[in-house]
Amino acid sequence: MDITDETFARLMVDLYGSLPRQGPGSPESTRRAFAMLGALPALPGVLDIGCGTGAQTIELASLTQGHIIGLDVFDWALDTLASRIEEAGLIGRVHTIQQSMDEMEFSPESFDLIWSEGALYIMGFEHALKTCRSLLKPGAHLAASELSWFQDDPPSELRQFWAAGYPDIKTVEDNVRLIEDCGYEMLGHFHLPAEDWWNDYYTPMLSLLPSLRQRYAEEPDAMATLDENETEMEMHRKYSDYYGYEFFVCRRPSS
Ligand code: SAH
Repeated sequence: MDITDETFARLMVDLYGSLPRQGPGSPESTRRAFAMLGALPALPGVLDIGCGTGAQTIELASLTQGHIIGLDVFDWALDTLASRIEEAGLIGRVHTIQQSMDEMEFSPESFDLIWSEGALYIMGFEHALKTCRSLLKPGAHLAASELSWFQDDPPSELRQFWAAGYPDIKTVEDNVRLIEDCGYEMLGHFHLPAEDWWNDYYTPMLSLLPSLRQRYAEEPDAMATLDENETEMEMHRKYSDYYGYEFFVCRRPSS
């Protein structure tokens, strides 16, 4: 896409900034994944990669008394999370770091839990799994959602759509194998339900599209991005049995 950095930055804020979350998910799914973890220390050190405006970060803070870092590359997302942290009385326990996940500077074996909803694809899932493993203490956990095929035989229209948008998409079984090959023990995994795509993500985004189409009418690259988002929603409406986000919960073995 040839969209300029400046237009892209504006569009990101306008399109994603006001949404309850920046990708599929829900408090119920965050809690379900959390319940699949093994024992955690009383005050775990947690890293939430690609936290966005922090829907799941705040949920995690209600599930653990530990120290949580929300990491994202965009200041507008972290500013919203900072307000949420303040409103929830979590200053001192939940922090934000503006940094690219490609350039994380934490020491090896820093965390008891790494969380990431709908974001590890950005650095490439395999690379992310390896990076996270080195940042986890022995015996520590990773919980991450990743776009996956739910069936082996997706219709060609859908296959083509994701071949352009996310050529690395794998079946759930292949992702399980990949996670194990990257040195994790699988504790469990589940499909995000279709409501997780709509309630806090596609439905509010859909209601923004008419006004955004007016605002960006003279900017063809931005209009193309809006069209792509709407096509993505159409794909989900038609084909959600074939693909979706799989939430994987796993552990770096203790030895
Ligand atoms: N976890 C959130 C957001 C998921 S969307 C949720 O489920 O609602 C993906 C997030 O990754 C966005 O917030 C985006 O700003 C962030 N992101 C994009 N590129 C990134 C990078 N290179 N490093 C860190 N975060 C990045």
